[in-house]
Amino acid sequence: MIIKPRIRGFICTTAHPRGCAANVDAQIAYVTSQGGVAGGPKRVLLVGASSGYGLASRIVAAFGCEAATLGVSFEKAPRDSRTASAGWYNNRAFEARARARGLYVETLDGDAFSDAVKQQAIETIAADLGQIDLLVYSLASPVRQHPRTGQLHRAVIKPLGESFHVKTLNVDKAIVQTVDLAPADEAETAATVAVMGGEDWEFWIDALAGAGLLADGCRTVSYTYIGSELTWPIYWHATLGKAKEDLDRAARAINAQLGDIGGRAQVAVLKAVVTQASAAIPVVPLYNALLFDVMKTQGSHEACIDHIYRLFGTALYGGSPEVDEAGRLRLDAWELAAEVQDEMRRRWPLVSTGNLGELADLEGYRADFLKLFGFGIEGVDYDEDLDPALSEL
Ligand code: NAD
Repeated sequence: MIIKPRIRGFICTTAHPRGCAANVDAQIAYVTSQGGVAGGPKRVLLVGASSGYGLASRIVAAFGCEAATLGVSFEKAPRDSRTASAGWYNNRAFEARARARGLYVETLDGDAFSDAVKQQAIETIAADLGQIDLLVYSLASPVRQHPRTGQLHRAVIKPLGESFHVKTLNVDKAIVQTVDLAPADEAETAATVAVMGGEDWEFWIDALAGAGLLADGCRTVSYTYIGSELTWPIYWHATLGKAKEDLDRAARAINAQLGDIGGRAQVAVLKAVVTQASAAIPVVPLYNALLFDVMKTQGSHEACIDHIYRLFGTALYGGSPEVDEAGRLRLDAWELAAEVQDEMRRRWPLVSTGNLGELADLEGYRADFLKLFGFGIEGVDYDEDLDPALSEL
């Protein structure tokens, strides 16, 4: 079949196998061109490994640190005439390249929140790796079935306290619209914390520590976003921010637990990039389209892979981490730099459908979005008749 993008709101329901592979190749090429990460981990478990920041972390671990990687993700295999999800193709492409490099690689596709998947990971690590030196927790999910209570929690993306009337970008139609977002109630906020907060990260550490699979000096990192006051009403001061605050609590609890083995848990504050998860948050696409233009103009723009390479090379394993008062690794200083945010504050009230092309990098945003699904990548033949079940990538 000829595979074309089919965009529905903020997702694309098709993915291109060769395009996804090309996207993985480009990220590997970037890491290879930058050279190795000195003192990096050798055995890494990544929860949320198939796309966005988790995939970039897996690529840096493997191709920057020569690490064996076990990835956990929740992706859809191809079925009948439907393509697989992009992450499924990303996983196949990554596995082939890591194996060709002589690196151990294994991927578990299933619900990372479940005890069953944790048990599978434990058995795989015990049999194949012995222990791990790093757990990267990079999950982004709208729902979580709690493994103890069986309750299905659904995260909501809502402000707290009062409604938020704000501009957003309809990427598909290239128009700036306003939306009214009603505040979350207590139950919705608690559900969002249950899904995107730190409890599951702690459950992973409990399970791995209980099985004796954390090596001495083992590190673990979970990713968060803080951003600026332009997005605070829908992010940091909203339901998602409450969940992310809970990661800080979990990091403290895990640190106390890892003391015996000299281990360390940290939350890393990352910059805004286009991923499947971030595309779903109202306001963020408009913020990102403006931000990319400002940061590209100022020469400080980074893609996912550049940013994670810097995280590993300077903060997690390098000697110059920037750490804030809460103990978080701060990688977002370039995004939050006064010259970037002053320009963002100037443009924000001005931006409208008519001047999007002038004030925002709409084309860059769209290109990044399509790339997530393997589309719009140079050198890929999009007229090729492909079997969507193609797994040799
Ligand atoms: P993403 O949508 O690209 O990736 C999410 C990953 O989670 C995928 O690998 C997916 O398969 C996996 N996943 C989802 N539900 C799962 C489940 N039940 N079981 C197993 N795997 C599951 O998202 P992303 O934007 O890379 O987000 C990763 C982390 O980075 C999140 O914590 C997010 O808050 C954080 N972060 C993102 C940004 C941004 O701008 N995108 C900025 C800062 C921090």
